[in-house]
Amino acid sequence: MQLQLLWELQELDLSIKNLQVKIEAAFGLSGVNEAKVALEELEDDYSKKENQFKADRKKLKQMELEEQAIADQSKELKENMYGGKVTNVKELEQMHRRLDHLADNKKLLEENIIDLMESVETLEEELANVADKIKQAQDELNEKERELEKKKLQYNQELGQLQAQREELVKKIEKKYLDKYLILVQKHHGKALARVNDDICSGCRVFISSALKGHLYNPSAMVYCENCGRLLVKLE
Ligand SMILES: [Zn+2]
Repeated sequence: MQLQLLWELQELDLSIKNLQVKIEAAFGLSGVNEAKVALEELEDDYSKKENQFKADRKKLKQMELEEQAIADQSKELKENMYGGKVTNVKELEQMHRRLDHLADNKKLLEENIIDLMESVETLEEELANVADKIKQAQDELNEKERELEKKKLQYNQELGQLQAQREELVKKIEKKYLDKYLILVQKHHGKALARVNDDICSGCRVFISSALKGHLYNPSAMVYCENCGRLLVKLE
């Protein structure tokens, strides 16, 4: 009877150990970490693109102001040239050259503005695209975190049940049996007891001597495997 209870205790302890391993591994297996890394990468990407977008927009504004300044200068120059105030030929020629130079600058600036506008537009599309991906990644992370929480809750409930069962079981076991079990469990990594099947110790797969065999039929005797030292049980 006591050996039967010890066997049940060992089964229970192995289940508890197994569950604790599962609890420890739950976070690693949940994919939460990978989902976090993926989200962070997208957020970094978004932040870089956003900075570029803001810088380009600022530059664009500056270029547009520059363009306006050139236009103002040209207008003023033309008014002076054709207003009849300047009559000196050399001075007029100089003003012409200056006007041509301003026109060249304006043309170049306009080309640059168009290029930059295109790049700003592309960036804007990319930002919207990354924002969509961030939303998806966030949803995925939330989902994985929810699953992990659910799993942890379930495992902890199971663990609580097993521990309650263990407490009840331990109450029925006599101290000398329990003490022996606790010592052997340390020594044999959780497997203090071994069943005997066909005269073989299931702990180490070695035959039980005929001297020991006889004792196995005495239910209150504690019989140990001569090879591995485990407490032998012969369960019906
Ligand atoms: Zn053995």
